[in-house]
Amino acid sequence: MKKILSTLVLLAVTFPLFAQEIEKTEFTGYIGETTVLHQGSYTPDFKYDGSNRKVRNVILMIGDGMGLAAVNAGMYANGGELTLTNLHTFGFVRTQSDDNFTTDSAASGTAYATGQKTTNGFVGMDPDKNAIPNIPEMLSPLGYACGVISTDDLNGATPASFFAHQDSRNKTDEIWADLPSACLDFVSAGSTEVFDKRPEETRNAIDKRYNMVGSLSEVDGTASPVMYLPPSVQLADRGDYLPSTTRKAIEYLSKQSKKGFFLMVEGARIDKEEHSNNTYGFVREMLDFDKAIEEAIRFAEKDGHTLVLISADHETGGVALRGGDPEKGYIRTAFATTGHTAITVPIYAYGPKSQNFRCFLENSDVANKIMEILTGKNPNK
Ligand SMILES: [Zn+2]
Repeated sequence: MKKILSTLVLLAVTFPLFAQEIEKTEFTGYIGETTVLHQGSYTPDFKYDGSNRKVRNVILMIGDGMGLAAVNAGMYANGGELTLTNLHTFGFVRTQSDDNFTTDSAASGTAYATGQKTTNGFVGMDPDKNAIPNIPEMLSPLGYACGVISTDDLNGATPASFFAHQDSRNKTDEIWADLPSACLDFVSAGSTEVFDKRPEETRNAIDKRYNMVGSLSEVDGTASPVMYLPPSVQLADRGDYLPSTTRKAIEYLSKQSKKGFFLMVEGARIDKEEHSNNTYGFVREMLDFDKAIEEAIRFAEKDGHTLVLISADHETGGVALRGGDPEKGYIRTAFATTGHTAITVPIYAYGPKSQNFRCFLENSDVANKIMEILTGKNPNK
């Protein structure tokens, strides 16, 4: 016995790999806190949720950087509930890209848009720089109406993944130049300011292809494809842009095709505020995104043939919840980083076939499942 013990001690000394070294340090990251006013939440009827009814429309909502802690922070700051957390069906999504354990929004956006993993920074291209079809490009020829909305600039990695094919998310002019050949009936994101800086040739081609409207009220009666660029997409300037544009896009797209529609809605600035470790900022963005989620859920509840999926491209900030008081809308946070993290993100589903998302998925699986549900065929199998 003694001999065995001394052998074990010797092993532990010789192979320090067996022992875990824990260094105790003071937390040096940023700690933030915020108090926000409760905005309430909506609980839908679950009559069609998880049923096998035919799915005609899919609304995919991507909270950029919306990890589980961001959902929690938003939920507790909102008095303990969100429309999102009132839903009954959820799973988890692994976000790794083809070349990196920690993804960026371009690679993960491309996975959500095409069903294929790619290199960080690539938009709508595989690791060998071949253009790969996105959901609108696959659905539009089948008669579906498609739309994209984001609180980012239209060339942002997530919205761009649904229309562009470029080997760098930083090729801003090239991404805008991909818009005239996009398969989109409704486009809205930032912004007139960004559009005005594009080369004249690109602006003319976009003007020629799209019916540009100056406000949401002009959308009704405007022929497809329609583009609405607000002056700015910053939270302070945009008011209820995201929920009201989501509502309008759903209304518009559902009139464009009897077959059905696909709409991607991105709450882009949860991520940006987490990059700055700004607790107030990301919680406000989370609550704004939840208002847009409510619009989609209310439509799906009435329609009965609409599947709503809400997920994230990755977590940002390594957000932790250190304390709070839901009644006062108070939360206290800490951040492990100003970058992205590799932890799985939640996915929530509502409507018929929502049960298909009650599992552990890859981000690329989400697009393939959407295509399989709508068309009966996984495009990457
Ligand atoms: Zn980011």
